Amino acid sequence: MAPGSNVREGGCQCGAIRYRLEDAPFAVHCCHCRTCQRETGSAFALNGLIEADRLTVLAGEPVRVEPPSQSGKGQSIARCPTCQVALWSHYAGMGERATFVRIGTLDDPGAFPPDIHIFTRSKQAWVQTGTAPTYDVVEVSR
Ligand SMILES: [Zn+2]
Ligand SMILES: [Zn+2]
Repeated sequence: MAPGSNVREGGCQCGAIRYRLEDAPFAVHCCHCRTCQRETGSAFALNGLIEADRLTVLAGEPVRVEPPSQSGKGQSIARCPTCQVALWSHYAGMGERATFVRIGTLDDPGAFPPDIHIFTRSKQAWVQTGTAPTYDVVEVSR
């Protein structure tokens, strides 16, 4: 692959926040936990893990909110101050060095399919996970 071919841009719904991923995420988690279901109002969340310094904010300034997380260790979510779309998170377990980008906010949301499914004990029965490995409970960090 040519250098830079994994560079992707994304943003919030209103366009106030724009960002760029300088590399592909090193892992993409499909999280079926109840927290992600509730936060997204959907069946799961798709999070790409990337080193924090590989995400560049191009426009706007996200605000941080800190709702409770499934692990109980806390998380910090970066949202657009205008449209409130959640763009990425930091989890206490991994600190500020790793960023969990909401893959659905990329301009090309199909660019990075999940390579692991986590918290599948609360997975919706109709969701097919394909060939990627699944974990009932434990959030795998690597
Ligand atoms: Zn916005
Ligand atoms: Zn989750």
